Amino acid sequence: MKMNLKLSTQNFFGTSETELKEIFCKWNVETYRVNQVFTWVYHYNCRDFSEMSNISKSLRSKLAENFHFSLPKIQKRTHSKDGSIKYLMELNDGAIVESVWMPSDSRKTLCLSTQVGCRLNCSFCLTASLGLKRNLTAGEIIGQHIAINEELEEKDQITNVVFMGMGEPLDNYVPVVDALRIMTSPEAMKVSTRKVTVSTSGLVNKIKDFQEEGLHINLAISLNASDNKTRDILMPINKKYPIEELIDCLKKYPLKPQRRHTIEYVLLEGINDSDEDAQRVVKWLQGIPCKINLIPFNFFDSTVYRPPSENRVLEFQSYLMKRNFSAFIRKNRATDILGACGQLAKQA
Ligand code: SAH
Repeated sequence: MKMNLKLSTQNFFGTSETELKEIFCKWNVETYRVNQVFTWVYHYNCRDFSEMSNISKSLRSKLAENFHFSLPKIQKRTHSKDGSIKYLMELNDGAIVESVWMPSDSRKTLCLSTQVGCRLNCSFCLTASLGLKRNLTAGEIIGQHIAINEELEEKDQITNVVFMGMGEPLDNYVPVVDALRIMTSPEAMKVSTRKVTVSTSGLVNKIKDFQEEGLHINLAISLNASDNKTRDILMPINKKYPIEELIDCLKKYPLKPQRRHTIEYVLLEGINDSDEDAQRVVKWLQGIPCKINLIPFNFFDSTVYRPPSENRVLEFQSYLMKRNFSAFIRKNRATDILGACGQLAKQA
């Protein structure tokens, strides 16, 4: 009986400010009350409407009749030698996604998932082998952050968030934008927009929509190849949005002062790692405020790809740096537990 009641109500986590304001309007409740309720939930971790002492009794019971609080369940933790933790998160319907917590001296970064699987079918990515099972709700996206933070000590609380786990964030557009608003709102989770990065394979139409949202979240773009022929093979989405369209859209994307895009480039031995590739990358990126993250391919069984030698990676980096680009070699985190970039997929 209780279960039925719960299912018929809405998860408060992930409910957007706009939606809650609309609901309050219908209830004839002043919309500023939304901020009060958000503060209780997101600042004071209150999970019981009846405890919200500055809210009227009738509104408290209305909220309790219509909403519940539900978070993904941590089903398993795997600790990496480098200190990272990979979490298997179980959603309400039993679906599983992965989130990875990565500590460094100054920051604790959470890499979270936006879809169960992915439908973009990039040939070097393990998640692609799952296909798309379903989209995550906004509540399930922010829920990964909240549930993991709840079990971490004060000193380990998440400071930065990257949308680089399973799925293509911009292919699950509305829930991702709702999640980003809740995450960065001062009334809710208060994460600085500077500390949140959304990674995309380059859905040009959605990048255009995204800039209209005025969120000022950092964007990471997975370029991964220097010519259309190679990118068509690595990332089939390139057939729809080829490199020139992607670059053109980035050139027009308004950035706040001091901000720049991140360009991700997975290095695959003999495929996209030559000096000629580096030369073409430089040409494409001319005039775009950006830094380049070079990610040596993370190997997994069943792939034909290999990472280049360390020397090749360094040479590629140095080619870019000599042409005045900031290029970083992304340290592979959590590789020993299959928790690294593109290695996320629930192992059966
Ligand atoms: N779909 C989004 C976000 C998820 S993938 C995107 O494409 O950006 C996050 C990053 O991991 C992307 O830059 C992707 O190119 C990279 N990646 C995927 N598989 C990888 C692998 N096996 N080794 C290294 N990087 C990988």
